[in-house]
Amino acid sequence: MIVILEANIDKNGEAYRHLLATLTRLPNVQVRTHEEVGAQQVLTELYLIGDTASVSLEDIRNLPGVDRVVRVSEEYRVLGRHRDDKRSTRFEYNGVEFSQDSLHVFAGLCAVDTPEHVEAMLRVLRDNGQVCTRMGAYKPRTNPYSFQGHGRNCLPYVFDLAGKYGIKVIAMEVTHESHVAEIDAALEATGRATGVMLQIGTRNTQNFELLKIVGRQPTYPVLLKRGFGITLEESLNAAEYLASEGNRKVIFGLRGMKSHFGDPHRNMVDFAHVPVVKRLTRMPVCIDPSHSIGSRALAPDGMLDVHHAVAQGVIAGANMILVDFHPAPAKALVDGPQALRLEELPHFLADVAVVREAYEKRRSLARQNNFA
Ligand code: PEP
Ligand code: MN
Repeated sequence: MIVILEANIDKNGEAYRHLLATLTRLPNVQVRTHEEVGAQQVLTELYLIGDTASVSLEDIRNLPGVDRVVRVSEEYRVLGRHRDDKRSTRFEYNGVEFSQDSLHVFAGLCAVDTPEHVEAMLRVLRDNGQVCTRMGAYKPRTNPYSFQGHGRNCLPYVFDLAGKYGIKVIAMEVTHESHVAEIDAALEATGRATGVMLQIGTRNTQNFELLKIVGRQPTYPVLLKRGFGITLEESLNAAEYLASEGNRKVIFGLRGMKSHFGDPHRNMVDFAHVPVVKRLTRMPVCIDPSHSIGSRALAPDGMLDVHHAVAQGVIAGANMILVDFHPAPAKALVDGPQALRLEELPHFLADVAVVREAYEKRRSLARQNNFA
């Protein structure tokens, strides 16, 4: 059961103390406090965990300080969409708003290689009005002899340059808790010139200890990639690990699934699951066409398979696109074959805009009817 309190409730006030005392007296029920600090208000939610079946919704709702009460199913308690649950899907980070209605493009380098390539990438993003990017410093590689990323050594110039070009959020994968500390220290050293969205890659979706550590930090939002060989339910539970530790700023990433059918694509594109994740949870949903497709294969209609995959995700309501670009794909140290070229960014953005508009029209059309 989730007890949502009146906004900006005074934690030292009588109402709050009385409420907490009443709830903690409930037998076999634990109370966990969760706070969401927004630009305008602080929202406090109390999670009642344990034997709540006999607790009356009505009694709790009538306690002073309570705005509303939601009885949750067992699944995805914090991130899930429950019956009569009108909680928002929105959160803000470093001036950028994320929700199940927004759409942001995170075009950038799969892996940071040189300062020149980073700067060229960031310049073209700024010139095209973009404030988000992706830049991998820590690369989990299948082959131990492959380039593993420059790690913390590249962070100072990546963050400085990002600040210089007005980038507000960089999606950056972490594979170990030390990476979070390194990112935090490097950002601090640049005076927080930019911001970071911590990315948990598909190989770490069920690295529960990493999830707990990343979930415990309140500073950075998290992009959790779906595990490429596990069920959707298992991946959504992994996201819930982050939230159960306190971090509700979680975006769920679809990046294709491993299949054994002689794939034309690196992974089987799973973007039809965008609305499924939005229905089951309140997370904004990201699509990663680059790691799904894995090449620059061209369709006879003149569009790359990557463009088609993006369109499939956006027309289904995706909220974020993570996509590999590179100034010189042939020289990229990781995933060059799937990278789009910098001069292709305007086309990419224009194509996304066309499809987003189509999605919005479809949504208005659907709202005129009642499918319920
Ligand atoms: C990536 O985004 O660079 C990446 C490695 O993705 P995934 O974890 O989906 O393979
Ligand atoms: Mn990659």
